[in-house]
Amino acid sequence: MKDYLVDAVVLKSARTREADRVLTLYTRQVGKIRAMAHGVEKPASRKRGAVQPFSYSRLLLRRGREIDSVSQGEGVEIFPALRQNLDGLARASYIAEMVDAFTVDEDPNTGVFELLLATFDILGRGSDHIAARAFDIKLMSLVGYRPGLECCVMCGSAGGERLWFVPGQGGIVCAECGPGPGGGLEISRGSLETLKALLRWDIGRIYQIRPDPRTGREIAGVMKRFVEYQLEKSIKSARFVELLEKGFSF
Ligand SMILES: [Zn+2]
Repeated sequence: MKDYLVDAVVLKSARTREADRVLTLYTRQVGKIRAMAHGVEKPASRKRGAVQPFSYSRLLLRRGREIDSVSQGEGVEIFPALRQNLDGLARASYIAEMVDAFTVDEDPNTGVFELLLATFDILGRGSDHIAARAFDIKLMSLVGYRPGLECCVMCGSAGGERLWFVPGQGGIVCAECGPGPGGGLEISRGSLETLKALLRWDIGRIYQIRPDPRTGREIAGVMKRFVEYQLEKSIKSARFVELLEKGFSF
């Protein structure tokens, strides 16, 4: 079998020589793959629309010795809200970079594919900041880093007044066990409940969760630390989103 069909979201598109592009795709069928899109920079290219960054397309791929290539493409959804302004593009870049960072090649995960589509679909329709945090915690859970939020991950108690979120321990730690060296971030009960809701609720309904600004900031801090701990680096586009958000209320 030389050709195969995939449902794909374009995470990244890098220009190479001439009119070609190397795509990073997240597909339903085979997970993350790279594919060559030949000639797409030519204005007459019929594949052009289907290989735009952050679009959802059906692609016919041809197996190659080193890299597969797109032989035909048909756009399914381009998520216009993501392309309306810088904010939408910055958020889409963040989501795509996260999926790229937390997945390995050719390890399909339908949950990740569905989450990616649902998140692109919801962005631009309400509080994108909250949608992005829901995406963070859901993605981490889908790839095996689900944080322990129900009780202290060290002793199993419900904990008292004060709680910490400790990335190195994988969740919530009570005052008795203590955040320990390297520490964690203190988290209020309200933020903890909101985090649980972000994890549990369907992303299509996530805008019904409306945390106050303080809770919003706390959740953002906790998730950022957790993502960076798991990846051992920061997400480049996160910095850009933060700059755009300055002065923004949630
Ligand atoms: Zn404890």
